[in-house]
Amino acid sequence: MRAVLKITIAVVLVLVLALVAAWMADRPGVIAVDWLGYRIETSVGVLIAIIIVLAAVLAALARLALFAARGPRYLAGRRRAKRRQTAERALVRGLVAVAAGDARDAKKQAIAAETATDGSPLSLLLAAQAAQLNGDSGAAERAYKLMLENDETKFLGLRGLIVLARRRGDNDMALAHAREAQALRPGAPWVASEIFGLQAALGEWSAAEETLAGALRHKLIEGAKGKRHRAVVQLGQVDAAIARGDSREALTLAESAHALAPDLVPATTRLARLLADAGKQRKADRLLENAWAHQPHPDIAEVYGAIAPDLPEEERAKRLATLASINPAARESRLLAAEQALVRRQWAEAREALMVLVANSEATRRTYDLLAELERREKGDQRRAAEWQEKAATGESEPRWFCHTCGHTPVKWSPHCPACHSFDSLEWRAPGAISEILPPPAAPADGTVPAADVARATG
Ligand SMILES: [Zn+2]
Repeated sequence: MRAVLKITIAVVLVLVLALVAAWMADRPGVIAVDWLGYRIETSVGVLIAIIIVLAAVLAALARLALFAARGPRYLAGRRRAKRRQTAERALVRGLVAVAAGDARDAKKQAIAAETATDGSPLSLLLAAQAAQLNGDSGAAERAYKLMLENDETKFLGLRGLIVLARRRGDNDMALAHAREAQALRPGAPWVASEIFGLQAALGEWSAAEETLAGALRHKLIEGAKGKRHRAVVQLGQVDAAIARGDSREALTLAESAHALAPDLVPATTRLARLLADAGKQRKADRLLENAWAHQPHPDIAEVYGAIAPDLPEEERAKRLATLASINPAARESRLLAAEQALVRRQWAEAREALMVLVANSEATRRTYDLLAELERREKGDQRRAAEWQEKAATGESEPRWFCHTCGHTPVKWSPHCPACHSFDSLEWRAPGAISEILPPPAAPADGTVPAADVARATG
């Protein structure tokens, strides 16, 4: 359509020009210019042609001047757009490489992004993440510190620095950074739980409890989780009170912790010990028996045996066998019953309990060890004992305390992991569970910043 219109206009224009030329040819005349001693004589047609040529030349000159003035700006704009595109591509590729754990590509893209943007906040974040992925915590720290200079990325920079400090075990520094982060965003649940965890790791129990109360008030921590956290904090306070010999304070706190988390075995065992120490043996017994009925756990049996210190061995074995009989079908009960039967030289009783475990495919290394001991002690049958021992060598281990942050397996439970100081990270778990084969969870241990935070920081 446009082409047809253009052709039509051109044809009309040529026709008009031809008509004008014809009209001029019919009316000849001369135009004379007399100026500064010069005299020019020409026809009207030539004059009009000269004017038209002059106008065309002027128009071309004006266009050229305009291009000379605007050209560099136009070219620079195009270069900028191209650089922005390069930077954006490098950033996206780099963040994907970080997410994929590709350290080499992450570093390459980080360098590209930094060059293309002259160190924009987002390229700094990528540089820090890539450095962390490459295990270069010095470079990561430098990048995070540069992020502190920009209001928009300060929070993310602090978050990175907190994780780095926590990883090198500098909890004081981590706490200082976390407080700065809290001043920036008082309502961030992550900061509240970080401050709480650090205070707990530092053993600042009352401060931790205050932080927790605040977080619960502002609904930064979910109710059930908060309850569990409070119970564990109070157990930390119980241990501290026991250490300074304040058993009354310890008992009050243990009662509160047990009320908050009745299923938490360490709360039950601590309370039982303190009750027995305070002369409330019957109450302590009932507490442990009740717990055994719900979840038989070796720590409960250990305390049940320990809080009756004056009993002769035979009587203590009977006492523990009674505990086992409260929940007789449980695996832990059968093991306890077998162990106590061996103490009392009740071979048939021990054999029965152990063989049920073998028949139920619930036998572990501990089961086979007990069977070997039984064969040796009852009949002196070294051959049979060796056979069981062989099974024990390849058998499954017993459940144990396991830190889900660092994989450490301490003998005893404590409010925070003795190896990595993570708060409330120990759980009772059978070895070989799938999460143990996989590396420990990436966040927060590796400190990469969740995508949601990146989105928030960059708008
Ligand atoms: Zn740990």
